[in-house]
Amino acid sequence: MNFVPQAIYIESGAESAPLTGEVLRRFPEVPVFRNRSLENLLADVSRTSDDVFGECKSRLVLSRFPGSFLKKCPGISPGMVCCNYYVVNLLKNCIYDCSYCFLQEYLQNNPFLVAFVNIEDLLGELEAEFSAYPGRVFRVGTGELTDSLALDTVVPYSRTLLPFFNRQQNAVLELKTKSDRVENLLAHPDPSNVIVSWSINPPQIVAEEEKGTPSLTARLNAARLCRDHGYRIGFHLDPILLFPGWEEAYRELIRELFREMAPGDIEWISLGSFRYRAPLKQIIKERHPGSRLFTGEHVPSKDGKFRYLRPLRNRAYDTIRRYLREVSPNLNIYLCMETREIWEGVTGKLPRSDERLDAFFDL
Ligand code: SF4
Repeated sequence: MNFVPQAIYIESGAESAPLTGEVLRRFPEVPVFRNRSLENLLADVSRTSDDVFGECKSRLVLSRFPGSFLKKCPGISPGMVCCNYYVVNLLKNCIYDCSYCFLQEYLQNNPFLVAFVNIEDLLGELEAEFSAYPGRVFRVGTGELTDSLALDTVVPYSRTLLPFFNRQQNAVLELKTKSDRVENLLAHPDPSNVIVSWSINPPQIVAEEEKGTPSLTARLNAARLCRDHGYRIGFHLDPILLFPGWEEAYRELIRELFREMAPGDIEWISLGSFRYRAPLKQIIKERHPGSRLFTGEHVPSKDGKFRYLRPLRNRAYDTIRRYLREVSPNLNIYLCMETREIWEGVTGKLPRSDERLDAFFDL
């Protein structure tokens, strides 16, 4: 999918950033508006569109991020076990339109596709943080509120981030994606300190629930190219969705994965089941009426998010872990955004009590 924004909006303070110039040079035909009130713009879109969130995905706002970019992974929430992880949000929203995407609810007040162009501020902040704690290992992801690579040929963050992370002694960059836009990664000569990870799901879920995203084949092909270039590779089977025939669909997904990759090529595989906050359900039903996300029963967990019943989640994790272990007992498999009980039930231990996971977390 070659993304072309419907319009570009430049906020005050963003005009002179080099990245702004790069984006504008790519789209000489696209209308550009300066210092337009986003509140008024949102009101305009709301008047003319039935799908405000979907419409705003094609309106690109170039902005300066005013605060601190670096924050601890939001997975640290009551009753949840998360992986030692930091996030930076260079982009908000995404050009894809997955039915289960939490951004539909999370970004309701500002649903525009926002790109922060003051990347030099981020680098300064990261440098200060990394050098203040030389004994600590930082794992930094850019894919919390967006897809890390889907826009990389539009706003080429990776061209700045890759050389920066290549130079670090105690930090690793994780680019999490469903995209196949790996041109900039393949053009960069040094793959050190960078992990590229792909979210994958069976082809029928990609087709029905992950609108606009590249196919499973395209994702695995991109992963193979990045592996061949020397990047470290991870995979997320997330969100795992339970539907009639899910066992065979996930078994086939794993077969397909290992037709492209050898077990030794993969740093880790994370598993996460479908989860959502209560208000998202109505939004999904309105925006994705054909979705099959709500055919099963979901119950609230300690963090307030709804998930499949615990025995169903346990069974899904057990089954998929078994399929993976059949391919290789040495794969690093972990659970993301799961409760302590599930971690213990499925893996028999908590993350920090597992030596191999410790090695992974400590990179
Ligand atoms: S790729 Fe990720 S961020 Fe983009 S729509 Fe899908 S779930 Fe949301």
